[in-house]
Amino acid sequence: MIVVMKEGALPEQLDQVVRLLQGKGLRVHISEGVEKTIVGVIGPKERVLELPLESLPGVEKVMKVSNPFKLASRAFHPLDTVVQVGNHVIGSGEPVIIAGPCSVESREQILEVAHFVKRVGGHMLRGGAFKPRSSPYSFQGLGETGLKYLAEAREQTGLPVVSEVMETEALPMMLEYVDVLQIGARNMQNYPLLKAVGRTNKPVLLKRGLSATMEEWLMSAEYILDAGNPNVILCERGIRTFETYTRNTLDLNAVPVIQHLSHLPIIVDPSHGVGNARYVTPMARAAIAAGAHGLIVEIHPNPAEALSDGQQSLRLEEFEQMVHEVRRVSGALGAVESSVYAGQPS
Ligand code: PEP
Ligand code: MN
Repeated sequence: MIVVMKEGALPEQLDQVVRLLQGKGLRVHISEGVEKTIVGVIGPKERVLELPLESLPGVEKVMKVSNPFKLASRAFHPLDTVVQVGNHVIGSGEPVIIAGPCSVESREQILEVAHFVKRVGGHMLRGGAFKPRSSPYSFQGLGETGLKYLAEAREQTGLPVVSEVMETEALPMMLEYVDVLQIGARNMQNYPLLKAVGRTNKPVLLKRGLSATMEEWLMSAEYILDAGNPNVILCERGIRTFETYTRNTLDLNAVPVIQHLSHLPIIVDPSHGVGNARYVTPMARAAIAAGAHGLIVEIHPNPAEALSDGQQSLRLEEFEQMVHEVRRVSGALGAVESSVYAGQPS
């Protein structure tokens, strides 16, 4: 349920509402909009309905929220959430470009890629140190050594680093080295891991599960928000369909749908979405045209020799070209105002 306060409602009127709800053992989440304040209520609907809320001064109306996700919903939080990472923001303004290899393979490799990303205007560096591979015999990542190389790359270039945390036990180590914790598609429903990253304050890049509906994905975001971390960035990375010419089907529907349902920023990973370098740039352009707040792209100095995901990795000069093309698309659009959805509870 949400309680919509009237425009210009007084702080003591808001306090009265909050006290009444909390007195009934309900949890309250306050969101200050441009014009109105919204009080999101978590707890049994019947208990809210028993209260004479609509007769209180300052209250405009009480509404049901039909979605099972609350903290992630637009209804609870009408304005866009903007996540700050270093000097960059994700969720407003220029789309953010995150690029790097699928896996950190060596110090030289990650430093070369990092300097290139920086030079062509990318904003953050990605690189996996712990890899969720389909086969136990495939390269599993360099582990902490890889994280150290990433941290060195950040020191040399100033680019914040994004890397996947695969298990709760590894979280303290990851927190020492990375700026954004990536939750991989295979772990989207690893609830203990979601709760653990939710207890930190680090930005979390939550990838959509391989076969997850948007509602399941938002429920996973809900776990992180509910544990206390508001810095969640969603990432569409393709879902499994009957199509076999591409590794996954990049579901760009998710961009406007998520922006309608949720205030959280959403970026797109065209690399895993298509699985073939040939198709990455067109889908990167399309993602930006659809209104994504950014991209995460796999690149490699020599994709043929990559230890993971070489077939979908752009060569460095292809990435440079992609950046130019994406800029032209975002320039043509101007700043896409996803907040047109604000104030339209779904
Ligand atoms: C990755 O980013 O390299 C990765 C493993 O992605 P996903 O979890 O989306 O498959
Ligand atoms: Mn990969």
